[in-house]
Amino acid sequence: MSERLRREPPRFRHVTVSQTERRSPRLVRVTLAGPELEGFALDQPAASVRLLLPSPGAAGLVVPAWNGNEFLLPDGRRPVIRTFTPRRFDTRALGLDLEIVIHGAGAASEWADGAEAGQAAAISGPGRGYAIDGGAPAFFLAGDETAVPAISQLLEALPAETPVEVHVEMGGPESRVALPDHPRATVSWHDLPPGAPPGGALFAAVRDVNLPEGVQLWVAGEAAGMQRIRRHLFEERGIPRSQTAVRGYWKHGRAADNTAGAG
Ligand SMILES: Cc1cc2nc3c(=O)[nH]c(=O)nc-3n(C[C@H](O)[C@H](O)[C@H](O)COP(=O)(O)OP(=O)(O)OC[C@H]3O[C@@H](n4cnc5c(N)ncnc54)[C@H](O)[C@@H]3O)c2cc1C
Repeated sequence: MSERLRREPPRFRHVTVSQTERRSPRLVRVTLAGPELEGFALDQPAASVRLLLPSPGAAGLVVPAWNGNEFLLPDGRRPVIRTFTPRRFDTRALGLDLEIVIHGAGAASEWADGAEAGQAAAISGPGRGYAIDGGAPAFFLAGDETAVPAISQLLEALPAETPVEVHVEMGGPESRVALPDHPRATVSWHDLPPGAPPGGALFAAVRDVNLPEGVQLWVAGEAAGMQRIRRHLFEERGIPRSQTAVRGYWKHGRAADNTAGAG
């Protein structure tokens, strides 16, 4: 049996929306709560969870069946499952915060935009996050608005004495949100010019930066933009892969792949 077919099915925990909060016109914090979150634990920053949402036209939430490789609904359709950063978990209230970008036409974006207390969803995970190298001389974090929850967690978790350079790409100044304080962090915001490919401003930031020897880089955003950044780091700068974590968080022009992955 192939490695892929041997995968264990992720377990979905039923939750309901307990509250929502607009962090910016394009970012909404959705708190999911419920007794099935008992035992959920966040050990690493920048981890992932899979959010199962009601399918379009369905009366309620249907938990799909695992066929050994992916989840399918009883009618054979693929369920709506999207990946998000588990931003904060309250172990006492059993409440999990996700921060979801309202980008327009997308199942999760539309759901989060209209989310109301009491709505049903389900969560699996968390998947693996970022293992912090406590001995690194410096950190470089960069990402677009989908990476803001993970960057926020990283800022909370990185050693206080280590310098951190942060670059965030946004559609415009109105999308900026307060990031957690880190005593040695410098944060630069980059507005993506209209018509520019997503990740373009991040690429320019990475290309122009002076990286200290041994710096650890964490970068996340649109997949093609991340590929460009990877190539630059590996091929033009010769940075060892062990110093980098560059993650494609979404694909321009393509809905997220529903197959069960991390978490
Ligand atoms: C490990 C991981 C962690 C993530 N954490 C977060 C998080 O904390 N918050 C968050 O908001 N997202 C996060 N993402 C990204 C999120 O999973 C995708 O943006 C996802 O596609 C959103 O689903 P959707 O149903 O709204 O859009 P989809 O149905 O997947 O896509 C519909 C259309 O919208 C476009 N699209 C998707 N996302 C965006 C975007 N951000 N901006 C512009 N166009 C977009 C697609 O290209 C497609 O054309 C994370 C992804 C990964 C892999």
